[in-house]
Amino acid sequence: MADVRLEGITKRFGSLTVIPDLHLTVPDGSFTVLVGPSGCGKSTLLRIISGLENPSSGRIAIGGKDVTKTEPSQRGISMVFQSYALYPHMTVAQNIDFGLRLAKTPTVEREARVAEAARILALDDYLDRKPAQLSGGQRQRVAIGRSIVRKPEVFLFDEPLSNLDAALRTQMRVELAQLHQSIDATMIYVTHDQVEAMTLADRIVVMNKGRIEQVGAPMDLYDRPETVFVAGFIGSPK
Ligand code: ADP
Ligand code: MG
Repeated sequence: MADVRLEGITKRFGSLTVIPDLHLTVPDGSFTVLVGPSGCGKSTLLRIISGLENPSSGRIAIGGKDVTKTEPSQRGISMVFQSYALYPHMTVAQNIDFGLRLAKTPTVEREARVAEAARILALDDYLDRKPAQLSGGQRQRVAIGRSIVRKPEVFLFDEPLSNLDAALRTQMRVELAQLHQSIDATMIYVTHDQVEAMTLADRIVVMNKGRIEQVGAPMDLYDRPETVFVAGFIGSPK
């Protein structure tokens, strides 16, 4: 587990400033949900934390170590996206194992990690199947399995459930909460869905136009919104 500190993060695309001077500490082991309307800069912020995007200025520290200039693969982070591309010709086990194989992890350890991920995600009975033989929820679990086996200290999720239907989304929310209980990791989870934020988070960060409006426990935000924006956003789920 590791905390994530963002100090004075600014991001510009040409003349457009998407994030102006953002400061945020995500506590070790928390399930922190970053919520805000479409286009407010959530994905950009995750991409900056993961190293897929460089900030225009500012610093990022993970577990007290400055990683602003560190390669994405060396940050101890794993990112789960909304569109999960599994390899169609590989089995579930091979898909989960893929990153470990690339990293030349010893075979015995790879097998143990894949088995552990399959147990956590209830995929034991599906390891020999191909992605086409799985439901949408099972495929998303395989995508999460590929992250788990790498034992990241920090998980980043960018709207991972938005392609799933409502019933499956509800089920996956429960599973993600259980996942957080069963592995020691800090989770930063992006969504534009207020209900998802309220049910998953132990801590919510409300973003608007690249700025943080308020940070707090779900019920804090609900009971004591500090801005009209937060009151409207958290108070009236769609
Ligand atoms: P969110 O994930 O909250 O919907 P994004 O982080 O994707 O928002 O985008 C925030 C803003 O930055 C939007 O106005 C978007 O158009 C802009 N943006 C994101 N990526 C780029 C890019 N590569 N080039 C130019 N503008 C971008
Ligand atoms: Mg986004």
